[in-house]
Amino acid sequence: MDKKLYSLLPKVDLLLEEPEILRLLDEYEREEVVDSIRNVLDDLRDKIQSGIDREEIQKDIINIDKLLEKDLKYKENKNLRRVINGTGTILHTNLGRALISEEIFESIRSKVVGYSNLEYNLNTGSRGSRYDLLEDLICKITGGESALVVNNNAAAVMLVLNTFAKGHEGIVSRGELIEIGGSFRIPDVMEASGCKLVEVGTTNKTHLRDYKNAITEETRVILKVHTSNYKIMGFAESVTSSELLEIKEDLILYEDVGSGILIDLEKYGLEKEPTVQDSIKSGVDLVSFSGDKLLGGVQSGIIVGRKDLIDEIKANPLTRAFRVDKLTLSILYELFNLYRDENLAIEKIPTLRMILEDVDSIKSRGKRVLEDLSDRPNLDLDLVPINSQVGGGSLPLMEIPSIGLRIKAKGMSASKLESFMRQGDTPIIGRIKEDEYFLDIRTIQENELESIVNRLYII
Ligand SMILES: *Cc1c(COP(=O)(O)O)cnc(C)c1O
Repeated sequence: MDKKLYSLLPKVDLLLEEPEILRLLDEYEREEVVDSIRNVLDDLRDKIQSGIDREEIQKDIINIDKLLEKDLKYKENKNLRRVINGTGTILHTNLGRALISEEIFESIRSKVVGYSNLEYNLNTGSRGSRYDLLEDLICKITGGESALVVNNNAAAVMLVLNTFAKGHEGIVSRGELIEIGGSFRIPDVMEASGCKLVEVGTTNKTHLRDYKNAITEETRVILKVHTSNYKIMGFAESVTSSELLEIKEDLILYEDVGSGILIDLEKYGLEKEPTVQDSIKSGVDLVSFSGDKLLGGVQSGIIVGRKDLIDEIKANPLTRAFRVDKLTLSILYELFNLYRDENLAIEKIPTLRMILEDVDSIKSRGKRVLEDLSDRPNLDLDLVPINSQVGGGSLPLMEIPSIGLRIKAKGMSASKLESFMRQGDTPIIGRIKEDEYFLDIRTIQENELESIVNRLYII
């Protein structure tokens, strides 16, 4: 190690006066730049310590603005940023699941930036409940007797089991012991709730008699889980909720439907997916679903069902730990309001709009990108048929015909192009298939086309 090399390292305050660094200060906050200078200087000290030669260090110091810019960009990318989803996966868990409707977001603004009657009854001038109005509305739309909104559907499962089966038994089919994402596994949640899991049947087949034989004095709940993200094909059989109603007697039949769709997709030519209303109508005691999957709202879990049971859940101290804030409540209220009119819901809720948008309308957005870039010599673009997916652990087999923008750029491999698109001012996430790069136009919004054109324009 050459200790003299340390004296080559520039001082922070002097660096901040260099023209190249001043340029960075136009774009980034001063504290961020100073923080990055410290990071880069620390790296250089480590390099000196590890015995790197003088020439290398001098080269790094000459290029210090580039190193700083890289560090600033790296930090920026780790923050939550707007990105453009060209993957065609509508509920992309890594990209934030459901989009919140712009109109809803605008309409709740004044309620959430100011004080509100969150727990105050304006008619009586005394304490009120934060949930009342929303819960009435959820009941109206779903047909349930009572409702409760909590932090997410995992919390809903936990609460139901903890309230009714802690220290007792809950029965679930082996075909429904699912894992969703890396951290949500039905058996783990059951265990954490204090409920003893009683597995019945086999992976592919569970019969009514399997449930019947498993019922003991200790049984409190029969849990049906919608196997949202996978399907068993072929030799498979499961028991419906209606059949379970015949044998449940005074046990609680609880259905975790996962996604929680409120409109009948079959009516629009897509695969049948049972609605929340269907589950309630079938007569199960409790149903729960996510707020940010097919429902198209925000992260939350919604429990609907028998009033006496929901009242018991409300009295469980854990419910307080899983409660939602005014932002979530306000957004859900506006969302369920849209569901009063199915056409309005499809028009205004981005998740539904994207699932049901027809190919011609998608194509017209693709054409606009093509036209704007028709004179770029280094680009070769065309529109090709492609399949979108719903994602978010919903409707795993459903492929929705869509339009892909296939992009080839002179001298750039598909993976290089993918990284270039991801690293722009507004990161664009695409898809590589058989060494070709695509953007699925279905998940790209009208107001995002310009950013895509701008990014491609500089190739
Ligand atoms: C997604 C899902 C969950 C978890 O819901 P979160 O809202 O993400 O907590 C639970 N059960 C099923 C069947 C699901 O599909």
